[in-house]
Amino acid sequence: MAEKLQTRCVIAGGGPAGIMAGYLLARAGVPVIVLEKHADFFRDFRGDTIHPSTLELMYELGLLDEFLKQPHQEVRELRAVINGQTVPIADFTKLPTRCKFIAFMPQWDFLNFLSREATSFATFHLHMETEVVDLLIDNRRVTGVRARTPRGDLDVRADLVIGADGRNSIIQSRAGFQRREFGVPIDALWMRISKKPNDPGQTLGFFQHGKLLVLLDRGDYWQCGFVIPKGGFDEIKARGLPQLQNDIVSFAGFLRDRVTELDDWSKIKLLTVQINRLRDWCREGLVCIGDSAHAMSPAGGVGINLAIQDAVATANLLAEKLRSGAVSVGDLRKVQARREWPTRLIQGMQVFIHRHVVTGRSSDCKESLPFVVRLLKWFPVLRQIPAGFIGIGPRPEHFHSPTAG
Ligand SMILES: Cc1cc2nc3c(=O)[nH]c(=O)nc-3n(C[C@H](O)[C@H](O)[C@H](O)COP(=O)(O)OP(=O)(O)OC[C@H]3O[C@@H](n4cnc5c(N)ncnc54)[C@H](O)[C@@H]3O)c2cc1C
Repeated sequence: MAEKLQTRCVIAGGGPAGIMAGYLLARAGVPVIVLEKHADFFRDFRGDTIHPSTLELMYELGLLDEFLKQPHQEVRELRAVINGQTVPIADFTKLPTRCKFIAFMPQWDFLNFLSREATSFATFHLHMETEVVDLLIDNRRVTGVRARTPRGDLDVRADLVIGADGRNSIIQSRAGFQRREFGVPIDALWMRISKKPNDPGQTLGFFQHGKLLVLLDRGDYWQCGFVIPKGGFDEIKARGLPQLQNDIVSFAGFLRDRVTELDDWSKIKLLTVQINRLRDWCREGLVCIGDSAHAMSPAGGVGINLAIQDAVATANLLAEKLRSGAVSVGDLRKVQARREWPTRLIQGMQVFIHRHVVTGRSSDCKESLPFVVRLLKWFPVLRQIPAGFIGIGPRPEHFHSPTAG
């Protein structure tokens, strides 16, 4: 017999989209339950970027000062190493935001911070180790979710279900939503290599004729993302670990003295990369946001920001109505209408990058620096364009949902 709970809004998934939506709705006085399948937020396969527009939001919420006390790095100018040359790509210092930098912070610190703040609202409840396995549907209206917990099954009935369960969303598949796939030619290998005090600072990545190594500074180690052709992991394994180690050193020579730390394939995880988007993000009683509505590739490091913006728009559009009762499918469509075009624009950019820049395969291009990059090198003012696109993005959302009195 399943345990039963009733609330106004239940959110599947405690990633950036789910925790931010939960925080904002609870702040508005809406009873909300967030269900996260893992026991903690401590997983290393997440990006670490908190963008100026998210920092602006933290300011609007009155959380910025406290937030910036968490260990983080402030990157004001993003550089890339392209075919051996270090080139500036984005200059955040002229952005019209309070924080003119990207904060690099492990995502578990961000999620722990926000969920801690959310628990100060009596209407916020977070259930960890609670995996949503199905939707509850009455007369074609979604009325809740069924979840599995270490203590047994749990049914949560709610006026609204928010699917924020990421790119392998059970919610979108159980809802029967149609998904459009945009082929991505790459996957990523994800691994750790120790960091030394004299290593170079955070960059956008090390690019070489279609290939890319990303290093995320996590204090005492580098979280490495190495782009490979989609489906190419078996071939890489067949070539052996020393060959992979050599490949990594050919991108970032300073890792030569420690790349042998990767001495077992169990230290190297394969992350599949996808770009897709739902045709409909909602039906009666249910809306999907973040990667659950539109899976993002790591290109540009913008997926977290987009997921957070979705959450803000959701709260802005729905919180007031949800305080007093259910919302109509027309209300839910407004979330998709508001967030779909920024998503299309960013995904379009990501598809372009994977077709022409980071393809996972060596390109025939013999130019050491692409023309666009040379323009950025020659004309510093142009670096404000990628800074705006990465740091703020199209249609940034501002907090204006109500606050419970
Ligand atoms: C290799 C890789 C690297 C990336 N790096 C970056 C980067 O540096 N910067 C950036 O901005 N973006 C990056 N992205 C994209 C970014 O990770 C996503 O766009 C972003 O995490 C989406 O946030 P979300 O909250 O929608 O989903 P997620 O972050 O995927 O969160 C979903 C949450 O739901 C939980 N969950 C899943 N299923 C269930 C279930 N059935 N029941 C309960 N809980 C469930 C998961 O455990 C997870 O906590 C990267 C993507 C990839 C693939």
